[in-house]
Amino acid sequence: MICIAIANQKGGVGKTTTAINVGTALAATGKRVLLLDLDPQGNASTGLGIGRAERDQHSTYDLLVGDAQLDHVAISTKVPRLDIVPATQDLSGAEIELIEFEARTHRLDAALARHAAGRWDVVLIDCPPSLGLLTINAMVAAHALLVPLQCEFFALEGLSQLLSTIDRIRSRFNPGLSILGVALTMYDRRNRLTDQVADDVRAVLGKVVFDTVIPRNVRLSEAPSHGMPALIYDYRCAGSEAYIALAREVIERLPKLRKAA
Ligand code: ADP
Ligand code: MG
Repeated sequence: MICIAIANQKGGVGKTTTAINVGTALAATGKRVLLLDLDPQGNASTGLGIGRAERDQHSTYDLLVGDAQLDHVAISTKVPRLDIVPATQDLSGAEIELIEFEARTHRLDAALARHAAGRWDVVLIDCPPSLGLLTINAMVAAHALLVPLQCEFFALEGLSQLLSTIDRIRSRFNPGLSILGVALTMYDRRNRLTDQVADDVRAVLGKVVFDTVIPRNVRLSEAPSHGMPALIYDYRCAGSEAYIALAREVIERLPKLRKAA
């Protein structure tokens, strides 16, 4: 099992959209995928059509703060081979409640280590827009990070904070944590500024940036309100095609992680 945390402390950069659609694309290739919704807003859960009743019985809150086992909180979605542990509003209190635990940074790692190995090939964690205890739990549990970066003027702002958090996690808890890749999102080819930003990001970050660029595409933003991945809502739209290409790159980069794991 390979665990990938989708993280960036900025909100609205495409973490959840990436989690849902890369997860769906990986599942389509035959991999058994688990998506952990670690954002109290629960957008990944809503975007996959998980209703309130289901969430109340199964959630990442129960996994982190309660003593629920992964096997009991993971539920299937309409996408074959894609399971999810949904998030509820309770999770917004978890950062405070976790402080009580001695192993507060390792709650998720422990939950995954015990139960995820045989059942899933890839675990994707959709992180909240912060670098608090929830994201730290994700970084401690993960083999690698996938960092979506929005093509906008301030794209690189905040990245140094993310990188120093990664360094701290490496030196204290998880020496093997790597960056699987940086994905440029919401690219608009009619806007010359986003071109410039994409070039700048590649100049600064180099090969870690995926070749695939996710375009700004209205189908990607419509799909969640229908409770389904864009890849199912409209698999031929430019956004879906881009996510299929991104998932292909993710698959190409997995063997390196497996060696390190
Ligand atoms: P995050 O999880 O980082 O907060 P989201 O994935 O929820 O970001 O995206 C923020 C908003 O932008 C959502 O409404 C989403 O539907 C929309 N969105 C994300 N990616 C794209 C895209 N490539 N094109 C158009 N809209 C997008
Ligand atoms: Mg999100």
